[in-house]
Amino acid sequence: MGRLTGKRALVTAAGQGIGRASALAMAAEGAQVFATDVNSDLLADLAGRDGIETAHLDVRDRASVKAGVSAAQPDILFNCAGYVHHGTVQDASDDDLDFAFDLNVRSMVRSIQAALPGMLDRGQGSIINMSSAVSSIIGAPNRFIYGATKAAVIGLTKSVAVDYITKGIRCNCICPGTVESPSWHDRVAALGEEMGSYDAALEAFVSRQPMGRVAAPEEIAALVVYLASDESAFTTGQAHVIDGGWSG
Ligand code: NAD
Repeated sequence: MGRLTGKRALVTAAGQGIGRASALAMAAEGAQVFATDVNSDLLADLAGRDGIETAHLDVRDRASVKAGVSAAQPDILFNCAGYVHHGTVQDASDDDLDFAFDLNVRSMVRSIQAALPGMLDRGQGSIINMSSAVSSIIGAPNRFIYGATKAAVIGLTKSVAVDYITKGIRCNCICPGTVESPSWHDRVAALGEEMGSYDAALEAFVSRQPMGRVAAPEEIAALVVYLASDESAFTTGQAHVIDGGWSG
């Protein structure tokens, strides 16, 4: 018997990185996982694995979110999709802000609105939102839009938690530090272009980590499994920091 046996989970942005690792970890604990992504090609490798169904889902499209949630009927909703913009407040264009708040924040409003009626009918649910240590917890250089959106995720998490606390529904968010993922490698490469060396950029990212390393996606997935399971029944409305001591 796994820690999530009998539960149904929907994961957004499950095609790579933390979402993928979390879909695999939840399936390994017995959940029936609905692994979704806007990029269907990235899901090919997950399709057909034990306990995993895959589907195209664009979190920016309300109809797509509704269709995915109604097919999955999740007890566990892991809102993982998000994008990292580079730059200061002076670099932030209206278009970039609109895009980031839509993908990083409003997407979660859409999926929570779609998932809540089923969770309320069943009297149980665990919603897990992807925030970041870079949010209302710490600032990081050139992460203005990102930090603002991820702070909003903490606010929406607390609000949902309070409104549904007596209905059996919990809502938490997770706040990772730097995690190895395909998009993180892209960010290192982009900084490497600016600095003239990939290795120097890698050193810059890693040297700000007190543990001298970044996280593996599986380490974040372990926290997702905990928050998805009944082991975490007494926690809701919290920002769970998992950052290797970065913000400490
Ligand atoms: P990633 O950035 O490498 O992958 C992102 C995934 O999101 C891709 O599979 C992509 O196809 C998908 N996606 C993009 N737009 C989408 C949309 N409209 N609908 C559905 N899916 C969409 O993965 P990652 O680095 O593990 O990041 C995942 C989440 O974790 C993000 O919210 C990110 O902000 C957050 N996070 C990442 C780190 C890190 O250092 N990697 C740290 C803290 C928080």
